[in-house]
Amino acid sequence: MVIVEQISEMQRWSDAERRQGRRIALVPTMGALHEGHLSLVRDGKMRGDRVVVSLFVNPTQFAPQEDFAGYPRDFERDRRLLDAEGTDVLFHPAPQEMYPEGFDAEIEIRDLSAPLCGAVRPGHFKGVATVVAKLFNIVRPHVAIFGCKDYQQLQIIRRLVRDLNFDVEIIGHPTVREPDGLAMSSRNAYLNSEERKAALCLYRSLRHAEEMVGCGERRGAAIVAGARAEIAREASARIDYVSLCDPESLREIDLVQDAVLLALAVRIGKARLIDNMILKP
Ligand code: AMP
Repeated sequence: MVIVEQISEMQRWSDAERRQGRRIALVPTMGALHEGHLSLVRDGKMRGDRVVVSLFVNPTQFAPQEDFAGYPRDFERDRRLLDAEGTDVLFHPAPQEMYPEGFDAEIEIRDLSAPLCGAVRPGHFKGVATVVAKLFNIVRPHVAIFGCKDYQQLQIIRRLVRDLNFDVEIIGHPTVREPDGLAMSSRNAYLNSEERKAALCLYRSLRHAEEMVGCGERRGAAIVAGARAEIAREASARIDYVSLCDPESLREIDLVQDAVLLALAVRIGKARLIDNMILKP
């Protein structure tokens, strides 16, 4: 596995591979890798002749009071895991390489960034859209793989590609879960053993809502109330939002007629966890 830190070197590598007719798959990450990330890498290996993993804790998607400084980082471990998966290039730029003095660009996908996490984390998705656009221009992938766990992010990237005509195929990879249902996340490392148990309320709440829909409940308010009640059984859980919305527009819906997205963000201890499920009537 080659480790590349310079943008110009990454572009040269990708251009050479493209000239050889090889298909490049990109998996963007912020490191602190877990089985969810590695599952994306395996997906990338199947879809491309070469797989590039980017590891960059992007400062512009964290608000000043958020966990940028304390975000888990273990480069040596990540490097070993990616090497073992057969990653071709680990792209690991320094912040100054990505945002040199005078950097002044910003991409905003307006409507899709407004609800859910966007409402609680202003500016977050501008940071995400901008860094992903940069990564597409740096790595020049044919295909890029993102996790459905970050559902709003995935939709925003699909729109970025559509509206700005990036020639990149976007794949949404299913959420990888721990055996007990907790969605894997680098931020699970913040949980102590009590909080780890409490964190199961996210998945329980999604499953509960799924059962309600399975039993014929169609009223959005009732489903959201059911999901909230399931989370409220954990005294330590603080709900950021529970939202039932259209899976494409992310607008809230009142009545389940088609597949809907149930999306949650919950704070437990110092971890802010998100999860979601598509519910089908
Ligand atoms: P992150 O390092 O948290 O920015 O995540 C990098 C990529 O991995 C994003 O596309 C995430 O959606 C994806 N990802 C993170 N956790 C999971 C998971 N449990 N299952 C599937 N994809 C995931």
